[in-house]
Amino acid sequence: MDVKGRQQKGILVVFSGFSGSGKGTVMNRLMERYGAYYALSISATTRKPREGEQDGREYFFKTKEEFEKMIENQELVEYALYVGNYYGTPKAYVQEQLDAGKDVILEIEIQGARSIKAMFPDTLLLFVAPPDADTLKKRLSGRGTESKEAVAARLARAYEEAQGVEEYDYLVINDALEECVDAVHATIRNEHAKVSRNQAYIGKIKEELKRFSKGE
Ligand code: 5GP
Repeated sequence: MDVKGRQQKGILVVFSGFSGSGKGTVMNRLMERYGAYYALSISATTRKPREGEQDGREYFFKTKEEFEKMIENQELVEYALYVGNYYGTPKAYVQEQLDAGKDVILEIEIQGARSIKAMFPDTLLLFVAPPDADTLKKRLSGRGTESKEAVAARLARAYEEAQGVEEYDYLVINDALEECVDAVHATIRNEHAKVSRNQAYIGKIKEELKRFSKGE
């Protein structure tokens, strides 16, 4: 449903960004402020939980064997290897929430974004980035949950991912959190106004007006 109450299926939204760009924080805040509009998909991963992370909240934490079983059973919409670990999007929840009219947000990296776009071409692709590279490094090191090597691997991966930013539809800079959240929300809401996404409404109003044009 859009703001005017017109029935519309939810939009599939991919939200990507370099590790350390603050995309998790942006998503949490978006859900706190505008949670009625969105469903945030929870991924499965073989990465170990960070301190404070809970199974079923940030991720479904799986062993490599369990994850490979999920692949085999076709339970994932997409999956990718990222810095030595598997990450994937469970299928069932995404479909269910889109059908319920919610915009479903997948917070995934670029290989996953590409697979999703290939399968569902009307996916909206958003990329969140820090104001500059130094800020990214500071945020990653300041997290304190990752070793020096892991930070270096994530920075190297960020350089690779930067090569793919042009494949996205919109870029959002995460400098001030609340502004960034507003920009993300506004971008997704605007997407609902696209003519191509309102064919049902357009068909209906044309039919209604046709009756009037005949003097009814
Ligand atoms: P982190 O280990 O920092 O939580 O996540 C590492 C990267 O994996 C991030 O860029 C995150 O967006 C991405 N990611 C998380 N879940 C998925 C998923 O289900 N599929 C894909 N392709 N990437 C994911």
